[in-house]
Amino acid sequence: MQPVMIPVPAAARQPARWQALWRDALRDPVELLEGLGLPGLAARVSASAQAQFPLRVPRGYAARMRRGDANDPLLRQVLPLDDEDRLVPGFSLDAVGDGAAKGGTGVIHKYDGRALLIATGSCAIHCRYCFRRHFPYAEETAASGGWGSAVDYLRADPSIHEVILSGGDPLSLSTSKLAELTDALRALPQITRLRLHTRLPIVLPERIDAEFLDWIGALPWPTVMVVHANHAHEIDTAVREACGALRQRGVHLLNQAVLMRGVNDDADALVALSEALFASGVLPYYLHLLDRVRGTAHFEVPEAEALTLRDAIHARLPGYLVPRLVREIPGEPGKTAA
Ligand SMILES: *Cc1c(COP(=O)(O)O)cnc(C)c1O
Ligand code: SF4
Repeated sequence: MQPVMIPVPAAARQPARWQALWRDALRDPVELLEGLGLPGLAARVSASAQAQFPLRVPRGYAARMRRGDANDPLLRQVLPLDDEDRLVPGFSLDAVGDGAAKGGTGVIHKYDGRALLIATGSCAIHCRYCFRRHFPYAEETAASGGWGSAVDYLRADPSIHEVILSGGDPLSLSTSKLAELTDALRALPQITRLRLHTRLPIVLPERIDAEFLDWIGALPWPTVMVVHANHAHEIDTAVREACGALRQRGVHLLNQAVLMRGVNDDADALVALSEALFASGVLPYYLHLLDRVRGTAHFEVPEAEALTLRDAIHARLPGYLVPRLVREIPGEPGKTAA
């Protein structure tokens, strides 16, 4: 059956407001630091780290940083400091083994029953601890060429029941581009769940606009969104409202976080994060030990200390607010419990 062509109103062809906010992100470390009253910290910004994976921070996210605090946990996640220039043995370029993913399709199929689509290479924010710092512009994305080879891959393997949109950040694609994929997936009866891995509801909650909510609310599958916040200060009123709107559309909301030195490496911070997530309708899912990616060694929390922290928060929170502490080991059939 041919889809009915509905004329697109002129307003819908204008760039959405979130796209304007996206483009308006801070890119200059000096501007960010001056805005925070921390001009002296500019001396510690690494020109090579900035050249390799440039600073990018939505202004609304920067507004949640504390003025005058050089150790602010949000600032620390985005500022390219000279710590990144240190070469530390064991911290490599492809720490999670994704270089070995399926060529040409943008699909990474490492785990049984679920396949991950590298929907796009772009992100609204550049997180210093992320493996993407070495692959900022993914060449092979599932969205290129109208999702064709990714959908072919999924169609050919009936054991795949769950499609995970990841990236980069899949919500950096326009809603109509996302709809192109889900329209194609409707024809694959083996797909029973859709999952989105995205940091946008946290860093640019304006992305969750009416058009997006209409799309996600009308999907034929149970839908899971795994957001990514590492610290309670990332969660403000706009984030809570975006999460509430998603929940109203029946979306299951989970959070993954990365355990990091100087960001969330104490029990109070982790408890506050779980509480803030729950207050927004989000349950903690994973707390990842850092991937050992080159330039991120200063963020690492040793595993023994991580286990102690996990026990400490377990003693203070109901079980459903304690995230699973995991590590990604290349070649394993799933995330490995620490
Ligand atoms: C993390 C990951 C998943 C999802 O794992 P879950 O344990 O289901 O959350 C799927 N595929 C790949 C390649 C992953 O890295
Ligand atoms: S993929 Fe996620 S963690 Fe990595 S830079 Fe993008 S938003 Fe940050």
